[in-house]
Amino acid sequence: MRQNTTVDIIAKLLQNTTVDIITECILWDLTLNEKGYGQVRYKGKLRMAHKVYYELLIGPIGNGLQLDHTCEIKRCINPFHLQQVTNQRNVALYYMRKRARERESI
Ligand SMILES: [Zn+2]
Repeated sequence: MRQNTTVDIIAKLLQNTTVDIITECILWDLTLNEKGYGQVRYKGKLRMAHKVYYELLIGPIGNGLQLDHTCEIKRCINPFHLQQVTNQRNVALYYMRKRARERESI
């Protein structure tokens, strides 16, 4: 039986996600980790789903870089909603968006 091949992982993506037709977020329907990111077993390792699909569909993540969800939805695995950023930029974006949300809610 084949296991954890690229074909299997793409099949998993198609079978276990829900697409939000308004935002185009591809929402992971299986297990989430304690921080709310999708989890998937790939090549024998439990990994964050958005990273696995980004690497498969776009390419490798640069050394020392992280993936930022431009849509701010942790469950989203749409690689076009992800951008590679430094940790410093990721933290800055987090606080920038948080402040923007707080301003909107006043
Ligand atoms: Zn998204």
